[in-house]
Amino acid sequence: TPSVLTLGISPAILLETVSKRFTSLGGVIMEHTPLKGVVVSETNGAALDLGADVEPVTARLVLDCMGNASPVSRQQRYGMKPDGVCCVVGSCAGGFDKETNLIGDIIYTNTEIQDKGENGKLQYFWEAFPVEIGRNGKEPGTSDVKTTYMFTYLDADEKRPSLETLMEDYWDLLPIYQPSIKDPETDLDVKRVLFAFFPTYRDSPLQPEWSRVLAVGDASGIQSPLSFGGFGALTRHLERISNAIVEALEDDCLHKDDLAEINAYTPNLSAAWMFQKAMSVRVGQNVDPKFVNRL
Ligand SMILES: Cc1cc2nc3c(=O)[nH]c(=O)nc-3n(C[C@H](O)[C@H](O)[C@H](O)COP(=O)(O)OP(=O)(O)OC[C@H]3O[C@@H](n4cnc5c(N)ncnc54)[C@H](O)[C@@H]3O)c2cc1C
Repeated sequence: TPSVLTLGISPAILLETVSKRFTSLGGVIMEHTPLKGVVVSETNGAALDLGADVEPVTARLVLDCMGNASPVSRQQRYGMKPDGVCCVVGSCAGGFDKETNLIGDIIYTNTEIQDKGENGKLQYFWEAFPVEIGRNGKEPGTSDVKTTYMFTYLDADEKRPSLETLMEDYWDLLPIYQPSIKDPETDLDVKRVLFAFFPTYRDSPLQPEWSRVLAVGDASGIQSPLSFGGFGALTRHLERISNAIVEALEDDCLHKDDLAEINAYTPNLSAAWMFQKAMSVRVGQNVDPKFVNRL
């Protein structure tokens, strides 16, 4: 699917475009202003506590778009262990072969299941996306910059290896995945290194527990546990959710039961869960090291 996997989004340009549109419509952006708490009155509205030095912001409806570390979602999911974790490590770097830097991989494996002893077994997957193509007149085949990720699906068992261990494996295994790199330390011009983990919950999208507060994006758990494509999920549902929110505000349907209709069950998330489970090995489980590749 060349027209999908060659399509990269520059976060800087996206954020600039969206913020311009938001402010042109009368929106106000408050940078560096962490939310401390939300107070809800079912009848009157909600107020955002932004700390002692900032006036609270009042609203009829609060959209929680604070990502998967949202303090609101965490409070709601308090004490619940994530059903799955996706760990991802990688980098954006120059130094790759230009001629073959044309198209991305979304899920690629080239190793068997890794046995990490008491830390369990892991199947590593790879992703790669060419960078800087299509902008400033850059034709395919002229950029040596590429983003590569190595990721794996886990349960949330405390014995699981650290992100640091995965990062070490990434540098060791990168030359096998990208043969134009013999030694990452000398061959790569590293622009950015990243490491992250995504907790995912089967009980998603998150149903509102409080009136006047609706989780959207990763905070709502709408993110796919398989592709960790939360941005894709957000944009796919953008029109439906935006229209539903407008209707809820127009008709004053802001009770948590009304808002629950917006974050309704999505069957595709359940299907993605099935695949996610098939791509991981539980701690203590014995499987043929080729199992995931065969699947
Ligand atoms: C390495 C990596 C690769 C990814 N690749 C893809 C991909 O290829 N395709 C895809 O679709 N998705 C991908 N994703 C997932 C995608 O980035 C997320 O799903 C998306 O960013 C979710 O958007 P969001 O607005 O819901 O949350 P976020 O982008 O997480 O934004 C949440 C914001 O809330 C802020 N915040 C948190 N707490 C507070 C607080 N108390 N007060 C004020 N602000 C707060 C945070 O600072 C942050 O700016 C990837 C993620 C990672 C880490």
